[in-house]
Amino acid sequence: MSKSSIHLKFRNTHQISARIHDTTPKPPSYEKEEASLLVKELRGTFASGRTRSYEWRISQLKALLKLADDNEQQVADALNSDLSKPQLESIVYEIALLKNSCKAALKELKHWMTPEKAKTSITTFPSSAEIVPEPLGVVLVISAWNYPFLLSLDPIIGAIAAGNAVVLKPSEIAPATSSLLAKLVGEYMDGSFIRVVEGAVAETSALLEQKWDKIFYTGNGRVGRIVMAAAAKHLTPVLLELGGKSPVVVDSDINLQVATRRIIAGKWCCNNGQACISPDYIITTKAYAPKLVDALKNELGTFYGKNPLESKDLSRVVNSNHFARLTKLLDEDKVSGKIIHGGERDESKLRIAPTILLDVPRDSLIMTEEIFGPLLPIITVEKLEESFDIINSGTKPLAAYLFTNNKKLKERFVMSVTAGGLVVNDTTLHLAVDTLPFGGVGESGVGAYHGKFSFDAFSHKKAVLYRSFIGDAAVRYPPYTNGKVGLLKALMGGGVLDIIRALFGLSKV
Ligand code: NAD
Repeated sequence: MSKSSIHLKFRNTHQISARIHDTTPKPPSYEKEEASLLVKELRGTFASGRTRSYEWRISQLKALLKLADDNEQQVADALNSDLSKPQLESIVYEIALLKNSCKAALKELKHWMTPEKAKTSITTFPSSAEIVPEPLGVVLVISAWNYPFLLSLDPIIGAIAAGNAVVLKPSEIAPATSSLLAKLVGEYMDGSFIRVVEGAVAETSALLEQKWDKIFYTGNGRVGRIVMAAAAKHLTPVLLELGGKSPVVVDSDINLQVATRRIIAGKWCCNNGQACISPDYIITTKAYAPKLVDALKNELGTFYGKNPLESKDLSRVVNSNHFARLTKLLDEDKVSGKIIHGGERDESKLRIAPTILLDVPRDSLIMTEEIFGPLLPIITVEKLEESFDIINSGTKPLAAYLFTNNKKLKERFVMSVTAGGLVVNDTTLHLAVDTLPFGGVGESGVGAYHGKFSFDAFSHKKAVLYRSFIGDAAVRYPPYTNGKVGLLKALMGGGVLDIIRALFGLSKV
């Protein structure tokens, strides 16, 4: 037994929770034993049943809303420290989206919690049935660095709305936001049921060894596989919010200026392309590409000026690892000559200018890996229809976008392109519509959330059938006779004539 685990024997659970909320520097690793004690403690408090009440859920949703309301500037400052995220993007895409999500849950919770009546059939007559949502128990939320405030707390709205106890593990790659989250959640939320554990791989691994009732993970597919493998050991269900290469198909019969601005809004105005549903690449026709490129250059000039590396309206690349990853994509031999706009970089400030590349080879790294940064390749085709096959030949993206006025093309896009979500004539906005499920398919994720889908993601839908003592049919009990078999077959088949025949002994067995 290690020295630290011997020390752990003398810690009580109260001390452990104090360490979890504490923002002073932590010991280097979060031990498996601590993780185990934390889950044990939360299982104990969850068993009290308090989280099941409507009142507790509402009080925690209100507390979360107040947390976001009271600390807007602190959150924006932390995001600026982690990513140089522009204030507007922090206020709108992290804080306002979270508040809206909270308000929707507060408004709809009663309705979401109400059991849903279900139809019954003649097979169980007389009976009634309902579907009762119940909390799963103690759940783990592991979040990513790119929208570190929203992606940490939005899943928690679903978890507490559904009545669960929850542990949040924010991303260590956004350390200022991570420690602010630990502090604020400790101050505002009910610590008997809602905890934050800060840390990196060691801490996440210690948490992943525990048995949870659901694991909600946001991040890349490589770690997604680690999460799913760890969950499989305990048969724990997972919700995986992953990424992918989200394409934009651009037709020629469009309002080019509006389309261009909306592509830029989804790419560089979303954390400088470090967003899971940012446009990853464009497909357009050879004939139309020059017009589109000119429009993109014009609008980028208007938005970010002559020296975008100095623009305060662009986030920086999160860290030097990601900077190296992105420059590797740009510096590949068959790609570096394809830059037609931007390409400037400043390693000391972790900045890369908005960069457009034309006709990069389809087997280049930039076209085979998720870009997740300010680089936008354009590939060209003879006929736009070819683009749907190109998209479907890759792994299933998290989002796909089409700009067109052509009704038939829209229909074909919706019917034939598989992606987590589609948007026609805009980018990324489906994320803000909480009546739509948000999630991936195939390699871009498992499951979905937002609005009611978040509540459902953290609920078990319990099937309940009610019967009384009347209508007790001898036909289901031994001794089994041919007549009973015939009648039961007819009853289960549901045909009235067959039932009548069976009752008169006229049916074939
Ligand atoms: P990240 O590096 O912050 O990692 C995410 C989480 O995984 C962190 O909490 C981290 O501690 C944990 N982690 C990392 N390595 C681990 C390991 N070996 N074992 C256990 N846990 C580990 O974030 P990231 O993965 O760089 O995020 C970017 C990716 O996430 C992109 O692919 C992006 O598309 C995707 N993403 C998806 C969504 C979505 O909603 N679908 C949102 C944001 C990001």
